[in-house]
Amino acid sequence: MAIKSIENLKTTDLGNSDVLVCPVCGKATEMRLFENEDASMVAHFLKKPSQGIAVCPKCAAVFDVNPHYIEEKKNGTVCTLEPPDLSVIVKST
Ligand SMILES: [Zn+2]
Repeated sequence: MAIKSIENLKTTDLGNSDVLVCPVCGKATEMRLFENEDASMVAHFLKKPSQGIAVCPKCAAVFDVNPHYIEEKKNGTVCTLEPPDLSVIVKST
């Protein structure tokens, strides 16, 4: 079951964020943004929101991104990624 749901994940490259200070390493950088979309039929019917992921190029920390920011970014709205929009998933240290 777990393997099946991973097969259905679709990752989209959303480009870079604005420059912000990474909450993990404290360096100002542009985060790499990705969207993880569950492309399974079940997720489609449940209208499951896609998950935004940010990666710090300086320290390789991985963050969960506020879904609201991902929606605005996809809609082309000018929006600023702020440290409170990020919650740490993986820290390299
Ligand atoms: Zn960092």
